[in-house]
Amino acid sequence: VHHNGMKIALEVAQHVDKVRINPGLYVFDKPDPSRTGFAEEEIAAIVARITETLEPLVSLLKAQDKALRIGVNHGSLAERMLFTYGDTPLGMVQSAMEFIQICDRLDFHNIVVSMKASRAPVMLAAYRLMADRLDAEGFPYPLHLGVTEAGDGDYGRIKSTAGIATLLAEGLGDTIRVSLTEAPEREIPVCYSILQALGLRKTMVEYVACPSCGRTLFNLEEVLHKVRAATAHLTGLDIAVMGCIVNGPGEMADADYGYVGKIPGTISLYRGREEIRRVPEQEGVEALIALIKEDGRWLDP
Ligand code: SF4
Repeated sequence: VHHNGMKIALEVAQHVDKVRINPGLYVFDKPDPSRTGFAEEEIAAIVARITETLEPLVSLLKAQDKALRIGVNHGSLAERMLFTYGDTPLGMVQSAMEFIQICDRLDFHNIVVSMKASRAPVMLAAYRLMADRLDAEGFPYPLHLGVTEAGDGDYGRIKSTAGIATLLAEGLGDTIRVSLTEAPEREIPVCYSILQALGLRKTMVEYVACPSCGRTLFNLEEVLHKVRAATAHLTGLDIAVMGCIVNGPGEMADADYGYVGKIPGTISLYRGREEIRRVPEQEGVEALIALIKEDGRWLDP
């Protein structure tokens, strides 16, 4: 919910479990180019107006046991925040705190906080500062993480991951959203991949594969594609595809199964760190499937 959004918020609150408001826009006054500052009374009057506008929404959410996301966006801080704290992570934190404190006075605590920015370093600083402030003020509210307007393609995914994964690895964050300029459903696999890469969720097969080098004994890229095509549905397994016997077995990172180049034309199949059998290269993928079946870990796709 954006500009002067009370009416919209009250309506959508009837239909969803959580409403997001942007503190910079929820009660919106057009910026005044001739302004040189904000007097304390002016700020107090704005806070009173926000309280009045939030109260009906908060009452409705409370009555329906629904949540409010206080979703700060770096690009749309209120003018009074820009004057007082600048266009900074601290300004973002203050913006959220203003609303959190109003909700606290209204005895509403079903709150999620986000601090999105389109630049990963800005959002990282804002979330860290916010987490410290929430701790210091005794508000144990969850954080929703995201790099907003991340763009598309590889870079959009990398940028989102740089921001979201860094915070998750520090133990910050409770929900995530990857915002891509692509069909919304394409955001979901990226979220799953971030969580799996950090070991926070396991929703797909984990493939361990070497980058190939002068020792590689088969076409790694092609074999990895084949192995993935055959096994991608076996959620929970770790499967390694390694180009040679020299470093392969040691670097399989405790995979459940390994497909390793033994000598030219021959593949070794491993269960854990144990070599189970050797097969001609052309039978490698089929033999891997057979081994997984023998172990009772195969499911038909
Ligand atoms: S596992 Fe073997 S083939 Fe693969 S990168 Fe390492 S040394 Fe090279």
